[in-house]
Amino acid sequence: MFGIFELTQQDPKTLQERSLKLAEEAGELAQAVLAATGAPGSAYKNMTLADVREEAADAAIVALSILAQASADRDEFDAELQRLMREKCAKWQDKLAE
Ligand SMILES: [Mg+2]
Repeated sequence: MFGIFELTQQDPKTLQERSLKLAEEAGELAQAVLAATGAPGSAYKNMTLADVREEAADAAIVALSILAQASADRDEFDAELQRLMREKCAKWQDKLAE
C-alpha cells in the first residue's frame, strides 16, 4: 500500500522509535483537532479540517509502518493488513449493531 513496506525497510528507525513517532503524530493530530474545532486555548492556532486530515494521514502512515516492521516480509505485511483490517472493522461493525 503506497510503498509503505518498502519505505519502512529503507528507514533505519527501530520499532521503539517508530512507536514513539506514532505518539508524536497522535499529539499533532490532537493539536489539529483542538485548534480546528475551536477548543478553548487552541483556537488561536488557526488550523482547519485540512490540517486534521493531514495529521490523520501522518498517524495512519506511521501506524502502517509499525505493522510493516512487525512483519517478516511483504507477503506477511499484505496478508496481515488485509486480515486485521477486515477483522477489526467487522468487530467495529458488530459493536455499532448492538
Ligand atoms: Mg504530522
